Amino acid sequence: MATIAENLDVVRKRIGDAEHRFGRLPNSVALVAVSKKQSSAKIAAAVAAGQRHFGENYLQEALEKIPDLADFALHWHFIGPIQSNKTRGIAEHFSWVHSVDRVKVAHRLSEQRPRALPPLNICLQVNISREPSKHGLTSEELPQVAHAVAGLPRLRLRGLMAVPASYDGFDQQRHSFAQLRRLQEKLQADGLALDTLSMGMSADLEAAIAEGATWVRVGTAVFGPRL
Ligand SMILES: *Cc1c(COP(=O)(O)O)cnc(C)c1O
Repeated sequence: MATIAENLDVVRKRIGDAEHRFGRLPNSVALVAVSKKQSSAKIAAAVAAGQRHFGENYLQEALEKIPDLADFALHWHFIGPIQSNKTRGIAEHFSWVHSVDRVKVAHRLSEQRPRALPPLNICLQVNISREPSKHGLTSEELPQVAHAVAGLPRLRLRGLMAVPASYDGFDQQRHSFAQLRRLQEKLQADGLALDTLSMGMSADLEAAIAEGATWVRVGTAVFGPRL
């Protein structure tokens, strides 16, 4: 079985090749290693191989692992659904939140972000494939929420995130990611200074990079199957 260091090399090469192939600048796409349901020991192996940004979906699980890795200067990204009663732990322990889809949650994160820390980086999650089961804002709801969140003092609205329906075909994958990119461009034209598109996972990161991803969130291709 490949080691985590070897997996990371493969994923970094996939990212670099896609940057080259689609005319993106070298190192314009960064990797969030999604460590949900992976042990602290596996995360430490990724740290030893140079990885610094990690994504977690469940607050309780993250709060159990973060202290194990406190010796390293790591950046934690919250990428899962957010219940209102979990915002304090997220505001205190994370650098980024990719999955904000309600103004109420954004207000709480802003109020609860500790003064000693820099503003919390935020992406708004969009339900790009309009799946009823999925979290995220509709494209109709997005502009109003984006302007409200951009005005909150302890947050920094950076861009958009999506988990599109999974397609096998590259062109279909790319089509979904293009929709997110166009929503971002509309908000930028409307005066919001956004620089982040969080899109692409193990199975579709190339299509996401083709459409402008700046973060890809990759779990199984880095760590192997989840527990
Ligand atoms: C689990 C998860 C990922 C990583 O998925 P893989 O297919 O394991 O790469 C990325 N983004 C979100 C929001 C996730 O929940």
